[in-house]
Amino acid sequence: MTHLADTAVYLDRINRAQAAMEQAGVDVLLVSVGRDLPYLTGYEAMPLERLTMLVVPRGGEATLVIPRMEAPRVVEQPGVFALRAWNETDDPVAIVAALAGTPTTAAVGDTMWARFVVELLGHWPSTSTQYLRSTVVMNELRTRKDAAEIAALQAAGAAADRVADQLHAGLIPLEGRTEAEVSADISARLLVEGHDIVNFAIVAAGENAASPHHHPGGRVIRHGEIVLCDFGGTMNGYCSDITRCVHTGEVPEDIARAYAVLKEAQAAGVAAGRIGASCETVDAVTRKVIDDAGYGEWFVHRTGHGIGMDAHEDPYIVEGNRRPLEVGHAYSVEPGIYVEGKWGMRLED
Ligand code: ZN
Ligand code: ZN
Ligand code: ZN
Repeated sequence: MTHLADTAVYLDRINRAQAAMEQAGVDVLLVSVGRDLPYLTGYEAMPLERLTMLVVPRGGEATLVIPRMEAPRVVEQPGVFALRAWNETDDPVAIVAALAGTPTTAAVGDTMWARFVVELLGHWPSTSTQYLRSTVVMNELRTRKDAAEIAALQAAGAAADRVADQLHAGLIPLEGRTEAEVSADISARLLVEGHDIVNFAIVAAGENAASPHHHPGGRVIRHGEIVLCDFGGTMNGYCSDITRCVHTGEVPEDIARAYAVLKEAQAAGVAAGRIGASCETVDAVTRKVIDDAGYGEWFVHRTGHGIGMDAHEDPYIVEGNRRPLEVGHAYSVEPGIYVEGKWGMRLED
């Protein structure tokens, strides 16, 4: 997967990571598979048993430790990180341990494989090294999107929007097709519109729409029912995620009434998303509209999630999250109403 930022962007991110390490008292940051690595270097490691690890000291140059056979895929970023390719007979964990020295505090990537953590523990006396999650360093960076990231998110979002437009325009046939067929159709369109990969394309008809993360299957879409479509992909390293509901045939009054409430709730949530407002406020404002209309017990999930290189990431728009919204935060507002056994609806931007 390619990432669009240039060397200056990665240098800036590494510098900000090192400043965050200074603040948090972290001596070394270790990042392996997952999105922190492409965020800092532009390189995304394949989830292999062969170790890839970025070793970031609090001061000085970072080193990307990588299997020699993977090295050709790395776009070198002079001044951002040095490349240390290891051979099949080398011990890559020993190489990482030597680069890291004997840290007092090490921050370890959330998605690093346990086998490498366990092996690293063998190199460091556990009594003297404190281990922290890499989020103490990376969370502030990853949640506050920089200009390159905002541009990438907007492009991915616009591509998903074009598929939503096709759905609304009736260009994606529904009646008589299975959920799985419509899901495949939406997936193909996400790729045509520029996504590199499709992350999910939920299509849920009628009573299946009452299950928020329904897996599309052989259920044939009939005339006169709601069809919930929640889909997104990754484009240049950044995710899209949108939910739209359409109805085959005449919309019954109960569904029309609930949908009007859903729309009003979502608009209220979007309007509440202001710099300085807390994440839980956005959830509360959205939820209140649905509660007041009497559908509260059927809104069974949080209002939204952050989005970026991961489809779900901080900040989560959920009760209890007092974190204030900041410039550069990106998140979804996606209230839903789910009546078990009957129908469900969600509206997500
Ligand atoms: Zn979801
Ligand atoms: Zn979604
Ligand atoms: Zn979502």
